[in-house]
Amino acid sequence: MEVSVRDVAPLRRAILEWYAREHRNLPWRGTHDAYAVLVSEVMLQQTQANRVALRYPRFMARFPDVTALASASEAEILAEWSGLGYNRRAVALHRAAVEVATSGWPSDLRALQDLPGVGPYTARAIGSLAFGWPVGVVDTNVRRWLIRRLGLDPRSPAGANRVLQEVADALARAGGRRLEPADVASWTHATMELGAVVCRALRPACDACPIARGCPARGRAGPVPVARQGQFRGSLRAYRGALLRALAAASEHALPRSDVASAMTRHGSAGGLPGAFDAQRVQVAIKVLERDGLVHADGQTLRLGPEETPATIAE
Ligand code: SF4
Repeated sequence: MEVSVRDVAPLRRAILEWYAREHRNLPWRGTHDAYAVLVSEVMLQQTQANRVALRYPRFMARFPDVTALASASEAEILAEWSGLGYNRRAVALHRAAVEVATSGWPSDLRALQDLPGVGPYTARAIGSLAFGWPVGVVDTNVRRWLIRRLGLDPRSPAGANRVLQEVADALARAGGRRLEPADVASWTHATMELGAVVCRALRPACDACPIARGCPARGRAGPVPVARQGQFRGSLRAYRGALLRALAAASEHALPRSDVASAMTRHGSAGGLPGAFDAQRVQVAIKVLERDGLVHADGQTLRLGPEETPATIAE
């Protein structure tokens, strides 16, 4: 499917005009600082925007720039991250900060996506939001409205994903060659906002949609399948999360092994642990977290973070 800039330019105009009138003020919008964008995008990878909106300002106040984050211990970062879930992101974010503090920001998409925790999607988000590169960014929300508006078959993910990226790139380029970085960033935010608040997963607001004209799904849009995760309650992920929350809340982020189970119980009920606590799962969770460098054993004490001290940042 060939996508020309001329084909998509009217869609782009309509979405930008709508975004200028209607967009929500979220704390990570309006910044072009690459570190701030990196932090927000890593948080948003697997955490809902309303939860990130509560935690992002606090994280940025504690670690205001890349040097501050790179110089912090992983235990401090994990403690601040606690409750956001998918804690490996925090470790990867720290490692990315160390790389940037040591070598500077990468200068192209390929090098950006080689940073720890930064895949192709996050690299494109940072490239467009911080550096003004006109590249398409396809997250779940963008994918949804593109599929509906273009009448694509979501059951053909390989074909659809390639086509969606082509369309998203064409839309990003349709603003012309002389776009300011702020215009590029507004476009990326606008595409995400449209899927988040208008072309929603359930009950899309077609009557308020700026690109409803010509939409084959208008008024009859069904759900667009997304990759689903297994049940959280009682899962190994729930046990890992409860253990990390317990360590984050503990004095000096450390617990005697004999206290781990009771501390996890206190920190687990809201996080998906079942009433019947599985001691074997606790041991598996500890092993997995040790392997990932999120906790380490110090004799009979379990501590948050890896055993090694973090790399020293070059002055
Ligand atoms: S008209 Fe409805 S289905 Fe089509 S893009 Fe807009 S909100 Fe989505």
